[in-house]
Amino acid sequence: MGSMSGKNAVVTGGSRGIGRAICLELARRGANVVFSYAGNTAAADKTLEELKALGVEARAIQGNVADPAAAKALIDTAVKELGGIHILVNNAGITRDGLAMAMKEDDFDAVIETNLKGAFLCMKAAIRPMMKARYGRIVNMSSVVALRGNPGQVNYCASKAGLIGMTKSLAKEMGARGITVNAVAPGYISTDMTAALPDAARQAMLSTIPVGRAGSPEDVAAAVAFLASEEAGYITGQVLSVDGGMGM
Ligand code: NAP
Repeated sequence: MGSMSGKNAVVTGGSRGIGRAICLELARRGANVVFSYAGNTAAADKTLEELKALGVEARAIQGNVADPAAAKALIDTAVKELGGIHILVNNAGITRDGLAMAMKEDDFDAVIETNLKGAFLCMKAAIRPMMKARYGRIVNMSSVVALRGNPGQVNYCASKAGLIGMTKSLAKEMGARGITVNAVAPGYISTDMTAALPDAARQAMLSTIPVGRAGSPEDVAAAVAFLASEEAGYITGQVLSVDGGMGM
C-alpha cells in the first residue's frame, strides 16, 4: 500500500504532459485519481488505462475548467463517486502568445479564464468538502515566468502570477482548517506545450538552465506529489520552483 492509499485526488488537465505525470505519480503512491481534459479523448483514454493498471480507482472527465458547471461537476465526481476529495492539483493551462500591442482581447481572456479563473472555480468547489473533512492539499501550477515575465506572454505571465497571489491568499484563509495551498513553478519542461518552440529559442533557453537540461514532466510530478502528501502538512503558501535553477 502506498502512502496516499485511501486519498482521492483531482487533477485538471491530466490527459497529457505534466498533468498526466502527476496523475500517474499520485496513483503510484496509492491515490485514486479523477482527472479532467479539454477534448483530446485519445490521450485521456490512454492515461485512464495507465491509471487503472496501477490498481487505483480512476475517472476521466471531459470539460472546460473555466466553465463553473464543469468545474463543479469535476469535483463532485470525486466527492460522490469516490467519497471525498483530499488533493486538488490545478494543472490545466494554455498559451496564446503574441506581443502585447498585437494581442487580441480574446487571447488575453482565454488564457486568464483557463489558467486563473479555472483554478479559482475548482478551488471554490473543493474547499467545502475539504473543510468538512478538515483535510486538504491544493497545488497550483504556476511558472518560472510568473516572477520574471516573458516577452510575448503578458496574458500567460499575468495568469501565472495571479495564481501565486491566489495561492497565498487561500493558504491564509484555510491554514487553520487542515488545508494547505501551495504553488509549483516549473521552468522549461519537455511537453507538447514547449514542443512548438523553434530550435534557436530552445537552445537559448537551455543555455540559461544551470542543471543543463530541460525538465521532464516527472521532475514536476515528484514536487507536486510531495506538496500533496500528508508529510507536507506544515508547508503552505509557498512557491516551489522546479526549473533546474533557471529562475535564480
Ligand atoms: P500540455 O501538454 O499542453 O497539456 C495541457 C493539459 O491541459 C491537457 O491535458 C489539456 O487537455 C488540458 N487542458 C487545456 N485546456 C483545458 C481546459 N480549458 N479545461 C480542462 N483541461 C484543459 O501542457 P503542459 O506543458 O503539460 O503544462 C501543464 C501545466 O504546466 C500548464 O498549466 C502550464 O502552463 C504549466 N507549465 C508548463 C511548462 C512547460 O515548460 N511545459 C512550464 C511552466 C508551467 P487536452 O489533452 O484535452 O487538450
